Amino acid sequence: MKYEFTIFGSGISAKITSCLLARNGFNVCLISDKDEKQETPNTNLVTFLSSGSLNYLSLMLPEVQLFNKSPEIKIIKCELNSLNEKKSQPIEFKSGEEENLGKIIKNSYIEELLDKEIHQLRNIHMINSTQLKITEKNSDSVKLKLVNGENIETEIFILSSTKRDIAEQTKINFIKKDLEQQALSISIKGDIKNINCAFQKFTSNGPIALLPYSKDEASVVWSLRNGSQILLKDKDKLTQILNNHLKEHITSFKIESIEKHKLQFIYAKNLFYKNTVLIGNVAHNIHPIAGQGLNLSIKDIALFLKQINKYVSLGYKLNDQMILEEFEMKRKLDNTAYSFGTFTLNGILSSNNKFVNNTTHKGLGLVGKSKFLKKLFVRSATGKDFFKTF
Ligand SMILES: Cc1cc2nc3c(=O)[nH]c(=O)nc-3n(C[C@H](O)[C@H](O)[C@H](O)COP(=O)(O)OP(=O)(O)OC[C@H]3O[C@@H](n4cnc5c(N)ncnc54)[C@H](O)[C@@H]3O)c2cc1C
Repeated sequence: MKYEFTIFGSGISAKITSCLLARNGFNVCLISDKDEKQETPNTNLVTFLSSGSLNYLSLMLPEVQLFNKSPEIKIIKCELNSLNEKKSQPIEFKSGEEENLGKIIKNSYIEELLDKEIHQLRNIHMINSTQLKITEKNSDSVKLKLVNGENIETEIFILSSTKRDIAEQTKINFIKKDLEQQALSISIKGDIKNINCAFQKFTSNGPIALLPYSKDEASVVWSLRNGSQILLKDKDKLTQILNNHLKEHITSFKIESIEKHKLQFIYAKNLFYKNTVLIGNVAHNIHPIAGQGLNLSIKDIALFLKQINKYVSLGYKLNDQMILEEFEMKRKLDNTAYSFGTFTLNGILSSNNKFVNNTTHKGLGLVGKSKFLKKLFVRSATGKDFFKTF
């Protein structure tokens, strides 16, 4: 079979890319890298979707308006604790009167909505293959061989799987680093003081984020060094520890579930090689400290689609290298800034060095006092400027 686009992956990025390309009339093959019998894992992870990402997705996929029920995040409060944990320094990032910063949505809900959409779109052909081999790359197409021996030919191949071996076939170079941290993802139910406020506290053990996604439900994401004793605590002990950190924001809470996610840094030096394009965590897997991983991928997908539509309407071939070169060039700065920015920020904020800690306090004090800097951070994190032209 020959397709215009073939996407390999089963994450949220692969699904959004498939839906948007199909909605724009392209003929799409979505190859899930999961076994046919393997069900989508019911993760308790949530995602902060920026107002820019949400507005864009609801324009392109009207079903996303179902997220309207989720509370709007209008304030992000941050608190930096010094090494002695006695002094704390608050910073508040606020949206304008009429706007919001974004919403916290359960990943399982995003997946459910996208799965429904994929099954309704007639120009998405779904296949399962846990692995694949790129057998030929020429200027017109990429040829793929699936586990069951089936051959696929496609004008553009989109790799959205972080499975080993496949990215290596693309000749793209990656910077990969095990962050030697794990994120505890904890879903809790309790009395949330302000459902429109997300809170992040930088403790000497690592950053804890409180992310409310309904009137009495929130997710706590705590990034901890491997070997941290907190990773071993049971529900009761963890409830006590969290209560100490979060009591001003949530009370009488109960832990519903706990998951551990290994944190790894991935940065692809290029977003394409010949007719193969990288989309999602495979292109940039960043620390969750800034809540921007999926938001970055949505910006990549939006620009990719815009470039394709623009040049195809001018009569260019789908896989004209100029389209892909321009796509990569336009996304380089933002992706690099967030990838290495979050990497560095995580290093600075988790440092136990007194000098680094004091300097960070002073630096953040300046950010906290500067309306201009805070506005700049908000504009970037909401994706407002980027999505203005979509
Ligand atoms: C704790 C945490 C909190 C986060 N919070 C936010 C947030 O607030 N805002 C935000 O924008 N982003 C956030 N992110 C990032 C966000 O979850 C991802 O960017 C998003 O899920 C998109 O993933 P993806 O589809 O690109 O890739 P993935 O979900 O990683 O999927 C890629 C593909 O790789 C395959 N795969 C991956 N690993 C394996 C493996 N070991 N074995 C087999 N197959 C594998 C999967 O099957 C899938 O096909 C967070 C991430 C974490 C871990």
